[in-house]
Amino acid sequence: MTQRVAVIGAGPSGLAQLRAFQSDAAKGINIPKVVCFEKQSNWGGLWNYTWRTGVDEHGEPVHGSMYRYLWSNGPKEGLEFADYSFEEHFGKQIASYPPRAVMFDYIQGRVKKAGVRDWIRFSTVVRNVTYDADSDKFTVTVHDQATDRMYSEVFDWVVVASGHFSTPNVPEFPGFERFNGRIVHAHDFRDACEFKDKDILIVGTSYSAEDIGSQCWKYGCKSVTVSYRTAPMGFDWPDNWREVPILQRVSEDTAFFADGTSKRVDAIILCTGYKHYFPFLPDDLRLKTRNRLAAADLYMGVVYVHNPKLLYLGMQDQWFTFNMFDAQAWYARDVIMGRIAVPDDKQALMADVAEREAREDAGTDNKYAIHYQGDYVKELIALTDYPDFDVDGACDAFVEWKNHKAENIMGFRNNSYRSVITGTMAPQHHTPWKDALDDSMEAYLRN
Ligand code: FAD
Ligand code: NAP
Ligand code: MG
Repeated sequence: MTQRVAVIGAGPSGLAQLRAFQSDAAKGINIPKVVCFEKQSNWGGLWNYTWRTGVDEHGEPVHGSMYRYLWSNGPKEGLEFADYSFEEHFGKQIASYPPRAVMFDYIQGRVKKAGVRDWIRFSTVVRNVTYDADSDKFTVTVHDQATDRMYSEVFDWVVVASGHFSTPNVPEFPGFERFNGRIVHAHDFRDACEFKDKDILIVGTSYSAEDIGSQCWKYGCKSVTVSYRTAPMGFDWPDNWREVPILQRVSEDTAFFADGTSKRVDAIILCTGYKHYFPFLPDDLRLKTRNRLAAADLYMGVVYVHNPKLLYLGMQDQWFTFNMFDAQAWYARDVIMGRIAVPDDKQALMADVAEREAREDAGTDNKYAIHYQGDYVKELIALTDYPDFDVDGACDAFVEWKNHKAENIMGFRNNSYRSVITGTMAPQHHTPWKDALDDSMEAYLRN
C-alpha cells in the first residue's frame, strides 16, 4: 500500500519537503502520497506578508510576524537553494540583502517550477494529531475553513513544519496596565511609520530588537532606547539611539531602568522572542525545546526521539535557513523512503541529541556557532542527493556579515557577497539601505 505523509505548514520548511519528494518523482521513483496542510490561504509561511494582527479572517491566530519594509537580515548568499539559484529565478544576479517581497518571489519560484501547489490544502488548520501504537499510524484532524468542515485522515508519517517564530513570548513589567502609550510585541509590529517622531522603547537585544529599532530609525522616529537583560548589542548606533539595562517599571509615560535612569517614551515594543507552540499536538508528540541550535529531543535535528515516525523541520535557532531546511527535508524524505535507517534504540537517539547539545554548549562565539550549524548542514547533505555546495563558503559569508555589522550597523546591507551556488559576485545595490524607502520588488530589481 502506498504510504501517506502529512506535512503541516507550507512555509520554506514544508515547501522544501514537497520539493524533496517531487525531485524523486521527477526521476520516475514511486513516492508516498504527500498531503500538506496550510492554515493560510497562500504558501510562503512568514514570508507571506499580512497586514493583519491578532486573528485572521476565520478567527485563527495570525501566523505572520513580518512587517513592511523588512529586508533580509543576513546575506542571501547564506541561504540560497542549491537546486535553484537566485540567478535562475531572476535571470540575473541580484544584490545581497533582498526585501521581503523579493525573497517571497524567489521562494515561490522553485515550487511553482516543481508543480506541487496542488499537494497543498490551503485555509486548512491542523487541529489535532494522535498516534495509535497498534496500527502504527497517525490520525490528523483538520478544519477546512472554506467549507467550515472538520475531517480526519490517517497517515503513516507526520512532518511538522509549522515554524517557531509566530507565537510571541510576552513578558509583563510593573506598571504596564497604566502606561498611556502603545505596548506591542514584535509579532504584531507592521509599519515603522506609525512611530515617526515618537520616542520608542525596545525590550530585547536580538534580531527583532536590532531590526525593528533600525526600521523605526530609518522611517523617522525621534529616539530609540533599547533595554537589555543580558548584555547590550554594542553596535555603533546613531546619535538618537541608546542602550540601557533592564526595564524595572513604567509609569503613565516614563520607563525606569535598573541603573536608576529613566526615559519618557511614547511606545514600548517587546522584541522578546517567540515560543515553540504546537496546540495541535498532544503531550506524547509535542516538541518541548528552547530556541537553540541543538533542539531538544530531535535525532539528527529532525526525528522525534519519542516517536521516530514524527519528524520536525526548522525547529532550531537559525543562522542557516532555507538551505538547512532543504538538507533536513531531503533527509526526512530518505528516512521515509527507507533509504536511511534510524536506530531502533531510543538510548541511541537520545545519545545523538546529548552529543549535539554538548557540542553546542562548548562554543563561545558566533563564529563557532555558525560553523557548528554549517557542519550540521554538511552532515545531512552527505547522506542524500541534495546538491553539494560550498557550505564553508556560506559560513564565510556569515562571518563577513557579522564583521560588516560591527563596522556599520546602518550600512551593512550595502555590502555584496559571492554566491556559493553559481560563483557569481552579487552587484552592489543601486541605493544605500538607509535611503531606500521603497521596498517593492520593482524598485529592488531596477538596475
Ligand atoms: P514559517 O515560515 O513560520 O512557516 C510555517 C507555516 O506553517 C506557516 O505558513 C503557517 O501558516 C503554517 N502553520 C502553522 N500552524 C499550522 C497549523 N496548525 N495548521 C496548518 N498550517 C499551520 N530568515 C532568513 O533567512 N532571513 C531573514 O531575513 C529572516 N527574517 C525573519 C524576520 C522575522 C520577523 C522572523 C520572525 C523570521 C525571519 N526569518 C528570516 C526566519 C524564518 O524563520 C525563516 O526564514 C522561515 O520563514 C522559516 O520557515 P518555516 O517553514 O520553518 O516556518
Ligand atoms: P530571539 O532571537 O529569540 O531573541 C529574544 C530576545 O528577547 C533576546 O534578546 C532575549 O534576551 C530577550 N528577552 C526574552 N525574554 C525577555 C524578558 N523577559 N526580558 C527581557 N528580555 C527578554 O527572538 P527575535 O529577536 O524575535 O528573533 C527571532 C527570529 O526572527 C530570528 O531568526 C531572526 O533572525 C528573525 N528576524 C529577522 C529579521 C530581519 O531583519 N529579516 C528581523 C527580525 C527578526 P536575552 O538575550 O537576555 O535572553
Ligand atoms: Mg549529497
